[in-house]
Amino acid sequence: MNIIGISEDTLKEHLIAWGEPAYRARQVFNWIYQQGCRDFPQMTNISKSLRQKLEDTFVIQLPAIKSRTRSRDGSIKYLFEVKGGAQIESIWMPDSDRRKTLCISSQVGCRLACSFCLTGTLGLRDQLQAGDILGQYMAVLDDLGEENAVTNIVMMGMGEPLDNYQPVVDAVRLLISPDALRFPTRKVTLSTSGLVDRLADFGREGLQVNLAVSLNATEDGTRDVIMPINKKYPIDSLIRCLKNYPLKKGRRITIEYVLLQGINDSLEDARRLAKLLSGFPSKINLIPFNPHPGSPYKPPADKQVLEFQNYLAAKYFSVFVRRNRGTDILGACGQLAAESFPQPISG
Ligand code: SF4
Repeated sequence: MNIIGISEDTLKEHLIAWGEPAYRARQVFNWIYQQGCRDFPQMTNISKSLRQKLEDTFVIQLPAIKSRTRSRDGSIKYLFEVKGGAQIESIWMPDSDRRKTLCISSQVGCRLACSFCLTGTLGLRDQLQAGDILGQYMAVLDDLGEENAVTNIVMMGMGEPLDNYQPVVDAVRLLISPDALRFPTRKVTLSTSGLVDRLADFGREGLQVNLAVSLNATEDGTRDVIMPINKKYPIDSLIRCLKNYPLKKGRRITIEYVLLQGINDSLEDARRLAKLLSGFPSKINLIPFNPHPGSPYKPPADKQVLEFQNYLAAKYFSVFVRRNRGTDILGACGQLAAESFPQPISG
């Protein structure tokens, strides 16, 4: 069993069953998550007999780095292999010395089949374990070898995080836990296509990480086509859920909106978007579509993007155009698709 990803309570249960004090769990967590120990025998303040029991029961296993591809803009796309041979990707995007964002995957492929997304063409190949999700961050930190190599983590890579609910929640808990990785909650963002029931559950977990919602259309007719999950959770049910989402004071929900030429980029769309978002604190990220091979969509003209942005800004929304990173290495939003799967993908 991989010790990375199990909860402190689960580790305590093992320790108690072995006749060891529960507080040892915190020591083991400290070694793994804070001191970067990847080998039980190195845990020198723990008795030899307990180290042996840990070694007999667990492994310390991070996703294996299969390749790194560097973009001209400094981003690095990591291809990882996880248990069972499945491959996933993460992208590390340095913006400045102060902001270095890591985008991690939550599933192998994705079943939601958004029509503008390369990952969606894969179907769902496998679910990741909590240790695989968390392990992408830990492996990148080990690889880059600097304590502050990652300042922000976004779950926007392959997969729909809320479609792999419990492992994602377990991973987020360990990421932000003072006993584990101590990552600041304000610097972690979970991005969802809007699985309304799961989103309400996630709000009740009380984790207080940032939430981003991929909306991408302002009418059900369009969203049904580009994001088929809309047929199950139409726009009004999603917006109602967002209005009731338990946000901490001062926080806003990020609305992601991929602009597709002639599909969702008109001023009429901007008007409807402003109306939809009027009842809760939000900020809007406009993402001009990143073309990928085989896609029927095109990015809008710069002028169109600017008009869309200006309309929303004039309505007092915080609205940003997201600069695409790693476009030359297929590392940009909606382009993660682990190019070398060990077997053909079905879904
Ligand atoms: S956009 Fe997200 S939810 Fe939609 S298919 Fe791609 S990975 Fe899945």
